[in-house]
Amino acid sequence: MKKILSILVCLSLIMSLSACGGSTTATNQTEAANNATETTAVSSVNTLVVGTSANFPPYEYIEGNTVVGIDAEIVSEVAKDIGVKVKWEDMKFDSLISALSANKVDLVVAGMTVTEDRQEFVDFSNTYATAVQSVIVKVGSGITDIDHLEGKLIGVQLGTTGDIYASDDYGADHVKGYAAGADAVLSLINGQIDAVIIDDEVAKNLANAYPGQLTLLDTAYAEEEYAMAVKKGNTKLLNQVNASIEKLKQNGTLKRIVDKYIK
Ligand code: GLN
Repeated sequence: MKKILSILVCLSLIMSLSACGGSTTATNQTEAANNATETTAVSSVNTLVVGTSANFPPYEYIEGNTVVGIDAEIVSEVAKDIGVKVKWEDMKFDSLISALSANKVDLVVAGMTVTEDRQEFVDFSNTYATAVQSVIVKVGSGITDIDHLEGKLIGVQLGTTGDIYASDDYGADHVKGYAAGADAVLSLINGQIDAVIIDDEVAKNLANAYPGQLTLLDTAYAEEEYAMAVKKGNTKLLNQVNASIEKLKQNGTLKRIVDKYIK
């Protein structure tokens, strides 16, 4: 009888242990699932939702109704490599980081400069391009050097490094923010502002739309590097993107794409 009892106790112990083991596993799985939804964002497994601000030629702009440009082509190579489709979400540049945090997009690719402040909110990939902030002025304006910008009214694209640096250096009262660089340039043409500070390749692109009327200062205003951004902690996607970027650098694809747009 004693023996039977001890066997029974053993049995029930085993059962409760395995039950306990089972529930531990279940909890771990739920936690893993929660973490996954927290970090891997909105997209279905096969689609990468990419946030951009498609008013930034030659990096991203709209042609017909698709996003084209250097970033668009790089993204399509990265997506091919990872084995996913791309769905673009076009929005204002200053909404991109919050869209990542809110899981509205998985990846941001928008000629976005790596800055320490942004690193508090997102994780940046390896860099894939360098840029400098350039100054566009009207031909004959008398502004021939960065020092001449003191006390002037400077147009920028809202939330960009151009906006941040100009506000720091010349005071927020001397900086006017626009949704797009093209709007700032139009304001410059119309005499409402004295200069536009924006990334160099975009500056050349925008200035070319007004031949003989606009010119770029020789002095670069600030040097920076572009990277893609993922939601903080989304290491899985970050590692995939980094591996792809490195591959594109090594096999010459990145250079081929850039050379197609920047002569
Ligand atoms: N490179 C600048 C930044 O990251 C501007 C980017 C943009 O306007 N798309 O702030």
